[in-house]
Amino acid sequence: MAVTIYYEEDVNPKIIQGKKIAIIGYGSQGHAHALNLMDSGCDVRVGLREGSKSAEKAREAGLKVVDMDTAAEEADLIMILTPDETQPKVYEEHIKDHLKAGDTLAFAHGFNIHYGYIKPSEDHPVFMVAPKGPGHIVRREYAAGRGVPVVVAVEQDPDGKTWPLCLAYAKALGALRAGAIKTTFTEETETDLFGEQDVLMGGINHLCDLGFDVLTEAGYQPEIAYFEVFHELKMLVDLANEGGLNKARWSCSDTAQYGDYTSTVITDETKKRMQYQLKRIQDGSFAKEFMDDQAAGAPKFKELQEKFSHPHLETVGPKLRAMFSWNNGPAKDQDEAESFNGKIARTQVQ
Ligand code: NDP
Ligand code: MG
Repeated sequence: MAVTIYYEEDVNPKIIQGKKIAIIGYGSQGHAHALNLMDSGCDVRVGLREGSKSAEKAREAGLKVVDMDTAAEEADLIMILTPDETQPKVYEEHIKDHLKAGDTLAFAHGFNIHYGYIKPSEDHPVFMVAPKGPGHIVRREYAAGRGVPVVVAVEQDPDGKTWPLCLAYAKALGALRAGAIKTTFTEETETDLFGEQDVLMGGINHLCDLGFDVLTEAGYQPEIAYFEVFHELKMLVDLANEGGLNKARWSCSDTAQYGDYTSTVITDETKKRMQYQLKRIQDGSFAKEFMDDQAAGAPKFKELQEKFSHPHLETVGPKLRAMFSWNNGPAKDQDEAESFNGKIARTQVQ
């Protein structure tokens, strides 16, 4: 199947100008969508829970802030940007009953629609605009006149107008300055989960910490180990982003390349583990395990966060990162500083 990529010229931006848009949530993605759409001239209101700590921040940024029910009632396009595990309850209690005929539901990740935790009736258009980058970068890039690429999908198209609306939303977000790749809710959800649990996080994070253990247990200095198994990752990723794996390899020594090609660390067994993980994503058992735990107050999730909250690398990480001229502390803006503070603190379990 040939890939379809949309750019700004493929879109009629007027389609979204007459719409009343609700952004539910003002977190990582929520603040970026609300601000980018407002700056693109859209009619935006932010829907927040009672007593929300974000209300003042959103108002200060010039946004209209209302409760979630009012936002859903007023809007004819509702983008749900609370954490995935909270969305079924948010939808059930604050959105569903306010949907008028033809109102559109939008998502930045396919999880709840794909696994059936949210089931809108068939007369509602449902689309996805999923940025391939964290919300703070989505905002930062927009403000700089650029955009973060997105993947786009339409799950329900009762009126035949969902695709143009989806693309107009992506344009208002600034994403079509970079491009939007057409996908489906199924493909986005399954590949996104696979990427994060098998390569980007579940793969790399454990690989780095394990490499640090092997070197320090063998008696090497932790500071040197940190540099070798973690610090240089960023530079290789930067080169790979510019020119792919070949550029990253090209920039390294022949010795490094030879070691790369002959390494026995990743084996056929690793591929089998990845295929096993993928199967658990495809058959819904990963989603069920995660959502059941969340529904029970997230005992397992909290236990795991605690267990992994002291990576061995971090015994020297803060000291070494302070040496890097480009790093003035871990957070780049106030929003990040408030929610990050050096630990995994964004999680809000209901
Ligand atoms: P966040 O964790 O940043 O969302 C926080 C916001 O949700 C806050 O405004 C918070 O309210 C609100 N919120 C949290 N719990 C509830 C609740 N129970 N009821 C009502 N509001 C609640 O979410 P993300 O931005 O990370 O994710 C949003 C969506 O975007 C998800 O579908 C995710 O998969 C997707 N996505 C996220 C990416 C990212 O960069 N993080 C990348 C691509 C897609 P308050 O302000 O009151 O605390
Ligand atoms: Mg992802």
